Amino acid sequence: MQVKYLEDMQTLVGLCKQRGFVFPSSEIYGGLSSCWDYGPLGSQMKMNVKRAWWKAMTKRQDIVGIDAAILMHPTVWKASGHVDGFSDPLVDCKNCKQRFRSDNTDSYLEHRKCPFCGSKDLTEPRQFNLMFKTHMGPSEDSASIVYLRPETAQGIFVNFSQCQASARKKIPFGIAQIGKSFRNEITPGNFIFRTREFEQMEMQYFVKPGTDADWFKQWKAIRWDFYLNLGIKEQNLRFLPHEALAHYAKAAEDVQYRFPIGWQELEGIHNRSDFDLSQHMKFSGKSLEYFDEAHKEKFIPWVIETAVGCDRLFLALLCEAYREEITVDEKGNKDIRTVLGFHPEIAPVKAAVFPLLKKPELIEPALRLREELAETWEIHYDEAQSIGKRYRRQDEIGTPYCVTFDFDSINDQAVTVRHRDTMKQERVALSALHGYLQKGLKNF
Ligand code: ATP
Repeated sequence: MQVKYLEDMQTLVGLCKQRGFVFPSSEIYGGLSSCWDYGPLGSQMKMNVKRAWWKAMTKRQDIVGIDAAILMHPTVWKASGHVDGFSDPLVDCKNCKQRFRSDNTDSYLEHRKCPFCGSKDLTEPRQFNLMFKTHMGPSEDSASIVYLRPETAQGIFVNFSQCQASARKKIPFGIAQIGKSFRNEITPGNFIFRTREFEQMEMQYFVKPGTDADWFKQWKAIRWDFYLNLGIKEQNLRFLPHEALAHYAKAAEDVQYRFPIGWQELEGIHNRSDFDLSQHMKFSGKSLEYFDEAHKEKFIPWVIETAVGCDRLFLALLCEAYREEITVDEKGNKDIRTVLGFHPEIAPVKAAVFPLLKKPELIEPALRLREELAETWEIHYDEAQSIGKRYRRQDEIGTPYCVTFDFDSINDQAVTVRHRDTMKQERVALSALHGYLQKGLKNF
């Protein structure tokens, strides 16, 4: 058997659309550039991605969660530096009228050429602020301007003291948040890799100054293990230290994943120093200092941040999971089995239940079984076409187990459980099925 892994994004875009993971947004109106909707399987899978991250963070005694508003006081973005500095260099091509970001466009960086038409008739780069603006309330004057948040981190900083006091946390401790962010990206693209509306999973860990370098190292190791535990292979991950640091950063490294488009950022791990809390103190006039009871001293905590895009991790997990198993029989007939080999925690469906044939005496108990199992897991039911085709449909969406109720099941009260990866089949007593699946999904 030959195994082929994902080589191009287009294959994935097609599978995602066909099987209901991700659809182009507003497609009946021709779509909206770089906007995507998560379908029946995608929305479930995205929930699983978020749950895995949230659990990994908040199961720790030293991390609490928060869910801050997308719209924040406009001064937040003055204090954070986003109003003045959150911009990318934009270049216009005078020939084809296309616009592009000049700091990450190869043809521009290497030859100062337009990536669309090759013309050299270009404007000088000018800074373009990436924040989406809107107006709050009925008047549309400059006093009513608010921004859609370009990152979730600021919602954590402005709530630092309230979280610390209400949860009675001592430093070091962290605050985790999952939520939508918006950036008016100049060149979005590559499916859900870079979009203008996306979801972030960020955690800010507040530490005593002087311990920050050690915590930075610790968080790098913790985040690395998180990805390995979700089934990402070590050879597809690497750290890349930033060459140029942002104005607030004391250290920054990206966790990169080897996407079909090459090595790209998956997560940023940053030592943000006390920049954000100090800025908010300055702009709000409120103290965000921490009082260390044990040493009777006050200080502004430093922050180690881990920030990953939920959509981008979703994409990495799809890329990692995709494989084609190609077999050729003695007669030369080629067969391709497409499998999404998800870690069970991520798989949108954990098991599918089938009646062997479309007969009432099999359908009825199979439906009952589906209902029972659906109390615990996401379960599919399928009675259409041959059992082989039904297995293949589940392989293609990454379902770890298929459970078939056949004629023998009526008498022996047992079912056939088929494994996605090995395709091995086992007979399991109905009374033992729940425990069997529970153990199997845990120790996959
Ligand atoms: P870039 O330099 O590529 O624009 P960034 O370094 O500014 O991105 P961060 O602000 O560190 O990104 O955001 C943290 C994470 O959020 C990124 O690692 C990425 O996973 C995700 N992310 C950022 N921008 C986008 C986007 N436009 N679409 C999807 N995910 C994004």
